[in-house]
Formats: sequence, C-alpha cells, structure tokens
Amino acid sequence: MSDLLLANARMVGRDGTPTDVLIEDGLVSAIAPAIAPGDREVVDLGGRFVAPGLWDNHVHMEQWALVRQRLDVSAASSAAETVALVKARIREDRPADRDLLVGYGFRDALWSDAPTAETLDAAGAFPVALVSADLHAVWLNRAGLALVGQPDHATGLLREQAAFDASGIITAIDSSRMDEWVGEAAAAAAARGVVGVVDLEMTLSIDAWAERVGAGTRALRVRPGVYPADLDAVIARRLRTGDVIPGTEGLVTMGPAKIITDGSLNTRTAYCHDPYPVGGGVGIPSFSVDELTGLMGRAHEHGLDLAVHAIGDRANTVALDAFAAVGCRGSIEHAQLLRPADVARFAALGIVASVQPEHAMDDRDIAEVYWAGRTGRAFVLDSLVAAGVPLRLGSDAPVAPLDPWVAMAAAVTRARDGREPWHPEQRLTPAVALASSTDGRESVVAGSLADLVVLDADPLAGDPEALRTMPVAATLLGGRFTHRAL
Ligand SMILES: [Zn+2]
Repeated sequence: MSDLLLANARMVGRDGTPTDVLIEDGLVSAIAPAIAPGDREVVDLGGRFVAPGLWDNHVHMEQWALVRQRLDVSAASSAAETVALVKARIREDRPADRDLLVGYGFRDALWSDAPTAETLDAAGAFPVALVSADLHAVWLNRAGLALVGQPDHATGLLREQAAFDASGIITAIDSSRMDEWVGEAAAAAAARGVVGVVDLEMTLSIDAWAERVGAGTRALRVRPGVYPADLDAVIARRLRTGDVIPGTEGLVTMGPAKIITDGSLNTRTAYCHDPYPVGGGVGIPSFSVDELTGLMGRAHEHGLDLAVHAIGDRANTVALDAFAAVGCRGSIEHAQLLRPADVARFAALGIVASVQPEHAMDDRDIAEVYWAGRTGRAFVLDSLVAAGVPLRLGSDAPVAPLDPWVAMAAAVTRARDGREPWHPEQRLTPAVALASSTDGRESVVAGSLADLVVLDADPLAGDPEALRTMPVAATLLGGRFTHRAL
C-alpha cells in the first residue's frame, strides 16, 4: 500500500486550523502540522474538510443497481411527455452494449392521449419497456414487444398477467451484467463519500460479492446479511458476523441475520398496538413471539448478530422482547413507530436503531392518515439519541437513494421540497447525524482506519439544507482513493 500525505486538511469537528494527515499501511498514522513528505505522494487538500468515511447501514444493492439503470418517467402527465423523456434518454446516453431501455413509474389513468407502441416508436427504434407505477402495466414499443415475445400485440400496453410475464423477461439479467451494474452503483456511492454498506439483499450475496471483488469492484466494504431461508447454509459454512469472506481482500465480512417481523406503513401491514384509523386492523406480524425467539436464538447460537425489521410499535415491542429473551446483539431496522417505554428499552438492551430518515419525508402525509394522532411517536430520532441508543442512518436503497447526505439532510431538517419541518422536535444536529453515518467512528484520529471523506464544505456549519447536495472531493478506503475529484 503506497503511503500518502494529505496536506492542508481541516478536520471536521476540530478548530478549523489546517493540518497534515499522514496515511501509512491503510491507517492514519499521524495528524500534525507540517509533516515532512519524504518520498510520499502529497495531495494538497487546500483547506478542504476531512471526516470519517460514510456508511449506509441498510441497502439492497442489486435492487438499487437495477433501479439506477432505469429511466424514471413518473413526472410525465401524458403519453407524449413520457415519449419525450424516453427520447431524451436515448439521445443523451444510448447504451451501446445494452439491449433494452427500461423505464418505470408512469401513471396513465388520467392521460388524454393513449400509450401505444406506435407513439413510443416515435422515440426511436431502440427497444423500450416502461413499467407502470403500480407494476400492473407494461408499455412497450414494437422492438420491445418483439423482445418479450409479443410482436403482434394490438396496442403495446400490456396489463395484469401479460404485464407480469413481460416484467419477468425484462428484469431478468445475467449475473455478469448484474455484477457490472453493482460495480457502477458502488463507484457512484464512493463518489458520495461512502466507504461501506450493510447489504440486506434478499438472496445470499456473499459469493457474488467475492466474485465482484475478484473482478475489480473494490469501492466499498460490504457486510452482506443472511435471511432465514439461507441461515442453514451460512451456519454450515461456520460464518459468524464479522468474519472475512475469503478472497475479498478483507473488504467483505459476514453481516447480520436479517429477520422481517412485520409489513410496512403504506400497506397498513406494519404491526401496531392500536388499530389503523383507516381500514382497521393492527397490521400483520410475520412470526409468533416463540417463532421469532427461536429463530433469533439459532442465529445467535452460531455467532450471528441480528438485524430485525420492525416498523409498527407493536412489532418493535415484540422484537425488543425477543432481544431480551435471547440476549443477543444487533439492530432493529426501521423502528418507525415507538412507544416511549420501548425507546428506553433500546438503550437498556444496547440495541442499535437502524433508521432511514428520508422515509419520514416520503411518508409524512400517509403517516398523518394511517398513524393519525401518533406521529409524535414516529421517526423519533432525537428521542433515541437522547436516551443513549446507538443510532445508524441508512437509505434502504432503492426505497431512498444510496446517498448518506440525503439521509443526513432529512434527519437534520425533517423537511424537503420547501415544506415546513415535520415534527421538528425530533431533528438531529449535523454533528449527531454525521456521527450516525460513520459506522460509529466519531472522528479521525491517529490510528484510525484511513477510510476518509474529503469535503468542499464543513458539514457542521452553514445551511443544513445544503447537506443534501454536499460536494464530495474525494473518498479513501484503507488509504486508497475510491473517488478523486481534486
Ligand atoms: Zn430493506
């Protein structure tokens, strides 16, 4: 590993005096003014700001890689507007080696013009398939119809089963293409300052990650999780949380066992203590308490930490009961609605709250309906911090973009799109939001891993809304540049 001297750095959270940062063997070995460069490479940061590298504690990397390749047409309010978006995309970035442009998000119910293969053909001869926002329709041009085995379809707009069949064909990609797209997504994450992710992809991805690293995807540290369906396979391989996956240069380590215990707010399946005011019911638990405790106990026995998905307040109560009964370590993923007593129990049990602040911005309106009268207990980030609960921010990409600055901005402002803040009493300070995005590393000190992000602005000062688009000048992983724009 080549050594490196970062000159004229300002350390985030310190007094702002420029200093030098010496990196040796993947570690920060010294932070001091005027370090003699010797024969090391010197990079003058010109007073830019240095912080620990960022982590996203909850992503679905393959799903995110797929979505990144797709064209978002949700803003279009007619077939003609949709065609214009497709045309612009084909013009600006015609992917020579790709055989199909996939778009998503159209809503044709109120359009005055009809989505047909012929109108879509106006965008060009390149095969195009657009999936509707509700996933129940697929709109294709003639070249796209040929690709899904429907060359003579009358209109080009497939609905229901025909749409599901077409979706299956257009989303099936081979693993080498997937690895290429995951590599691009990893590089894009590094360009936002990310050095690591917890990958909670539903299919076991440890071997895929080993292959990706072997093929040159080295932009991120990855902790792949395991779901119950693959738990036995991981146990049989004697992999414990934290173990390095062989052949990954130490970049990929076994992540947690992931267990989903309830549904979601939008589908009213998040498991709650109180009935939903609309539609009734209290949501749907995925397991009985005994089943959950048994599953968590088995993972714990074999050295795996737990990552337990719980959104409704009752799902969180049950998950905390199970953590207490099993005595294991881990996180609750989402923790969107909480009783105050359970906030205290998170702290007492030492359970990490792994939260996605941008979901609060996406779901604030629906929460006011489905959790009417309870939103003071929703996304209680500051209450968790005040109680001493270890907090980790994430995106749940592709639900929100894999960009920790988006999560931090949402946590600090509780606002987006010029709206008034939503429950501003639960805002985090920028310092807490940043410290919750660095895998527990509060600051860069001598002896730290040289996983660093170099920023053009001080994230702790200035307009918090500017966090959303924070300019990232460079990212280093173990002292190696994974992104460099300076
Ligand atoms: Zn998820």
